[in-house]
Amino acid sequence: MGNKPLAKLAALLCYPTFGMTDTHAHLDRLETPGAALERAGNLQAVLTLGTDVESSAAATGFAETWPNVFAGVGIHPTEAENYTAAAAELLRELAGHPRVRASGETGIDYYWDAASREAQLRALEFQFDLAREHDLVMVFHVRSQDGSDAAERDLESWIRNNHPPRFVLHAFGGDMKLAETALELGGYVSFAGNLTYKKNSHLRNAAASLPADRLLVETDSPYLPPVPMRGKKNEPAFVRYTLETMAAVRGLEFQEMERISDENARRLFRW
Ligand SMILES: [Zn+2]
Repeated sequence: MGNKPLAKLAALLCYPTFGMTDTHAHLDRLETPGAALERAGNLQAVLTLGTDVESSAAATGFAETWPNVFAGVGIHPTEAENYTAAAAELLRELAGHPRVRASGETGIDYYWDAASREAQLRALEFQFDLAREHDLVMVFHVRSQDGSDAAERDLESWIRNNHPPRFVLHAFGGDMKLAETALELGGYVSFAGNLTYKKNSHLRNAAASLPADRLLVETDSPYLPPVPMRGKKNEPAFVRYTLETMAAVRGLEFQEMERISDENARRLFRW
């Protein structure tokens, strides 16, 4: 949007007292993103991530239209075989947009077996270039085959070897070794709706024990709907339930947890 001060003023007038931040959504995959964003009008910010050129362009479009939406542009590890010179050029162009705050979602995925390890590492390197060129936060996805931690170990060594200055582990899956490395190198850890699932006490233990100033919450909309919305398509407004669970396991009032996670997101993404 051309008129930044006006958009800011409108945001202030409409949503004077609320916060909450959804640090990871895929708005282009919602059936009615406009309606979902109306319902998320009281959120401080929503970061919508691209997974290929087309969805990265869509992410930037949402960020231009909605005052509390920011974008990430990149290639998801499962799309890494589609990383071409032409794709790189288009993503590079998008990455310079002032509403783009993240490079990704990137990372390593061996669960879906959709792209070779080499292709994934090439796409990851490219997104590190984007992050450095435009001072963006790297948003990491990581998923191994069941019973394996190969993707977590590969991502951990990549982070250690490359040391990206600003990054987040998105939809944290419970690998504490990876979390510790991320924290040691200044990274953030973001929890999604699966924090609320009955079986995931290991995630709640992690959310209770990790340092407060590195915690974020997200929806990963339309995926991973939190309790009590399971079975529905997830949307940014549902981040409230994940935040409630996080507050409960840390023994904090909701508003305090909200304030802390909003502040963390603002510090990391600079909105
Ligand atoms: Zn995602």
